[in-house]
Amino acid sequence: MLDFLGNLERTHYCGALRAANAGQEVVLMGWVNRRRDHGSLIFLDLRDRTGISQIVLDKELIPEGHAKGEQIRPEYVVAVVGKVRLRDAESINPKMDTGEIEIAASKLLVLNDSRLAPFSPAEEAIQNEEVRLKYRYVDLRRPEMQRNFRLRHDIALAIRENLSKQGFLEIETPILNKSTPEGARDFLVPSRVHPGEFYALPQSPQIFKQILMISGFDKYFQLARCFRDEDLRADRQLEFTQIDLEMSFAHQESVFAAAEQFMVAAFAAAGVALPAPFPRITYDESIRQYGSDKPELRLPGLIDVRPAFTDENLAALKIDPALPVVALRIPKVGELSRKEREDNHPLFDLKKGAKFIDDFKRLTKGFPEAAAKARALAGAAEGDFVIIVAGDPDHPSLIHSGTSDTKYPGRLSEREIAVYTAAGNFRTELAKKYADKHGAFGVTEQVVREADPWSGAKAVDGAAAFRPIWITDFPMFEFDPELGKWMPAHHPFTAPHEADMANLLTDPASVRANCYDLAMNGLELGSGSIRIHRKDVQQQIFKSLGISDEEAHARFGFFLDALEYGTPPHGGIALGLDRIVMLLAGAPSLREVIAFPKTAKALDVMVDAPTTVTDEQLKELHIRVALKS
Ligand code: ASP
Repeated sequence: MLDFLGNLERTHYCGALRAANAGQEVVLMGWVNRRRDHGSLIFLDLRDRTGISQIVLDKELIPEGHAKGEQIRPEYVVAVVGKVRLRDAESINPKMDTGEIEIAASKLLVLNDSRLAPFSPAEEAIQNEEVRLKYRYVDLRRPEMQRNFRLRHDIALAIRENLSKQGFLEIETPILNKSTPEGARDFLVPSRVHPGEFYALPQSPQIFKQILMISGFDKYFQLARCFRDEDLRADRQLEFTQIDLEMSFAHQESVFAAAEQFMVAAFAAAGVALPAPFPRITYDESIRQYGSDKPELRLPGLIDVRPAFTDENLAALKIDPALPVVALRIPKVGELSRKEREDNHPLFDLKKGAKFIDDFKRLTKGFPEAAAKARALAGAAEGDFVIIVAGDPDHPSLIHSGTSDTKYPGRLSEREIAVYTAAGNFRTELAKKYADKHGAFGVTEQVVREADPWSGAKAVDGAAAFRPIWITDFPMFEFDPELGKWMPAHHPFTAPHEADMANLLTDPASVRANCYDLAMNGLELGSGSIRIHRKDVQQQIFKSLGISDEEAHARFGFFLDALEYGTPPHGGIALGLDRIVMLLAGAPSLREVIAFPKTAKALDVMVDAPTTVTDEQLKELHIRVALKS
């Protein structure tokens, strides 16, 4: 028989009681974490979101409660009235915050029972993530998950408070929307009222936030839900939350300052001191030094080892002398067998027209001087794994035969970028694989472990653990070898550098965009730009992207119109809240910091979505489903 709550009121959370509470009469409510039956004494570990208290049911003192206690199972929901008392010296548990006390129950109410869950919140997370997600309500009871969401709440609150203090207004923008081109596929929502027409869910509030600047709000922000129909990865979900902001009369510096301030506040909320201002690097330098536009700074970058090789060496090694020859170094990997090295080979992207040399013994045999010089240039110590990556002159890659080979003074060519990024991707993959050996990520794990925003302790120094970096001066266009066309590297509202405007149509590869990314620890946190605020420039950009006047009018006519009504210069940025929380929680995936995420197959296995709908619903929406057989 279950008991009713009646008007019993909770006096304390389970995690709150200490030795100082001894002697107090308390009322606790929560879930039974564990039960231990010692005959005339039954011990319950009672759990709520704050922690655990030990309850004692003594047959002599409360025979009725003790009898109920015999029936109780894990995850039953109970209320306990009792007195806090100090534990005997030998039963003090120093691992528990409440380990010095226990509650001698005088009354026990069993408020609800529970089926045996497929896993226990009292244990570590189970490996089968699908089961965790199906029974998410049980999974979320785990202290680790409770902590992640408390952290998420505090970080979001700190960001809101900080932006508000900086003068930003939070304004909501529509979810039922018109397509915004962020480069992903839209989710579409059919209109019942307008047969055959669709809303799009926002990939971002981009156009609306720009219109808010035209509307005179000056500084806008929103913790905005964004929807992108993309393939999922550990750091990607179909819907995610951006810290989205826009400001009028802004330039890059003002956006950086605003974002750095809220980032520092977000990290402080997690108990981590993040130094600002953040370092900066241009896109070209980032590619040159890390082979990536989201550089991982906790490990050595790429090193130019071209000087180690003579032209004859390169010819003999079949290396393209006109392309970069770089070394990547993963420290402390130790000697690898041939088999171990070969196991790494699938991690190298051969499509980029680059090749690699990872057998230094062999290189040393054939080219002793070059090999020694290359290792020296790479700063390699004994046991460091060094790999040379270079252009493959014989590679039949599209990039190689493409038209995008031209060099612009001071800028990297597409082929150079391809070689650098092949090296950069290999570097980050190997860094992940050999994380235990090089130990470079340990500093982050340690800071995450030590940071405790709720203890009142001083913030932990995050300078070495979290390495933010601004990437600036992106190219405006990237050559798409498959389409054989220059494509926008960002959404089409991004302003070009004023100095490069004249080349828009004649020489697209040379045009730099006035946009920027923020990366941290090899993860892109988000991007932003100074926007186009003049209709003539916006039209020109559409044209350079191959968007005809008619198409531009159909898709963005309203926006081109709005630009004509006194648009201030403006710019902004959007950073991924989920990713920031993931980093600060030390979580391996976004799914650990999103309460109800989708699986890698884009399913919500708890509610079972997506599903088919009734014929009635389809009819109302004027939709007929045509499945491929
Ligand atoms: N809307 C952009 C994005 O979602 C961010 C921005 O440019 O502010 O990436």
